[in-house]
Parts: sequence; structure tokens; C-alpha cells
Amino acid sequence: MTTALDYPLTPSPLAYRADDDLAAVREQWGDLLTAIGQRPLPTWPPRERRGYLDQLAADDRTEDDEQTVEPVVGRLPLTIREHPAPLNLDALDAAVEVERALFGLADRVAEQVQRSVRTVRDGRGRHLTDPDDAADPARWQYQAPTSPGSRAYGLHWAAVWIAGRVLDEDDVGGLFTSMPARLLDEVAATARTARRTVERALGRDGRTTDLAEPCPWCGGQLAGHTRPGGEPGVTCSTGPDCTAPVETDRRGRRTWKAAELVDLWVALDAARRRTAEA
Ligand SMILES: [Zn+2]
Repeated sequence: MTTALDYPLTPSPLAYRADDDLAAVREQWGDLLTAIGQRPLPTWPPRERRGYLDQLAADDRTEDDEQTVEPVVGRLPLTIREHPAPLNLDALDAAVEVERALFGLADRVAEQVQRSVRTVRDGRGRHLTDPDDAADPARWQYQAPTSPGSRAYGLHWAAVWIAGRVLDEDDVGGLFTSMPARLLDEVAATARTARRTVERALGRDGRTTDLAEPCPWCGGQLAGHTRPGGEPGVTCSTGPDCTAPVETDRRGRRTWKAAELVDLWVALDAARRRTAEA
């Protein structure tokens, strides 16, 4: 008999945290794969985001924020090791490390919570594995010498599948048992590390970068800020006297966030063109 302590009935705060971290890995995975093919530059915003901002500016300065960016995973190479032209080796290392960690984690979760394939009897009374149960798409399929198993569906599916086990999601086929506390600890730790690895490789791990170009409104020093899991922003060092049409942060600095970054980007781009023409 198991106790409620071993198998909590509702997802715990740790389970929700693991789910958050897995979602952050999934949501930034396309950016990481994109970054592999781009030379890293010490600029802000990070290069793949600049491409996005340029795109938004070109799209008549759409008000949409980054939530609406189409996932790019679909047209990216399935196997990151065979990336045609890795230019950012830190991003490649991070992707390989995170992929290996989450695939291995899914294997261990499956070993502990996934029911083995049922057997059925054929006409002569022999026990055979039930092909329908074996092929249940909700199963995590292990890698075999002849097949990549569920790894074929990529990191995205692995992260979704692990999150489903963590949150004890609907289990129509009776495939899974609840996750033991010790395994949940491992999942939460691995998910947190994976998220940090992705965010570090993308320069979103809470760093501040001084921009080379001055504030287009007041000439002050601009600084780009990233923080883990949060939206990036840019601040102007001048304070409330800066005439830029954005709110100030708690320290009185003009701050651009989300769609406002597009306005800043357009203004910086215009200033750059004026300098180039002069
Ligand atoms: Zn300013």
C-alpha cells in the first residue's frame, strides 16, 4: 500500500516548476537551433531576436509580441549533430547536451511509471505482445538498435511527454502510474538545468549588455537586459529627462519592453542610416 505522501494526489509546486522549466526549454528550442547556424556576436538584442525584430519592423510594425512567432522547429534538421553549418558551437553544445539529458530522462521516467506492454493469447494459446498496446502513441518508446523510438519526434515531444507524467495527466489507457517523489526531484533538477543551459547559450540568463549606439532620443547610454524566463528589455541611463515615449522603471530609467523594443529598434536603425549617409 502506498501513502499519500509518496504519491501526492494533485501536482505539487515542484511538479508545476518542472512543467514551467520544460515549457521554457520547448519554447526556446527553435531559437537555440536557429542560433546554431548563426555566428555569435557580442551585440544586443541577441542575433536571432534581431532578425525577429527586423521582421516585425518590416511587417508594418505589427503590435504582436513574441508569443505569436511561429515555431520554426518543423523546418529545422531533426538531428542537430548533422547540422549543415554550425557557426555557434556553444549553441550546438547546449543543444546536444539538453537533448541528451531530456531523452535520457524520458527513458528513466518511462522505466519507473510506464506499464510494460500487455500480452495477448493467440489461437493456440501462446502469449504474444499486444501490438495495439505496444504501438499506443502515448507510450515513450525506447531507442533500439533498429529504431530511434520516440527520439524520432525530437526534443519537443520528449519535453511534452515528461511534463504529462509530472502533472499526472489523463491516462486513458492506464499506461502510467504516478511519479514517485524521488523521481520528481530528478525530473525537476534536470528540467531546471536544461532551461539554464538553453538560456545561457542564448544570452538570456540575466546579463546586461551596453549597446554600442546611444539613445536616439537623448544620446544616453543604452543597456540591454535579459533575465531567465522573463522578457528582455532595454534601459536608457539618462533617467526621466530622456524624452523617449516609454514608461520608466523603478529606478526612473526609460525602459523598452516587448513591442516597444520594435519602436526602439526602428529608431536605432534610422539613426544608423543617418550616420551612414552623413
Ligand atoms: Zn534616452
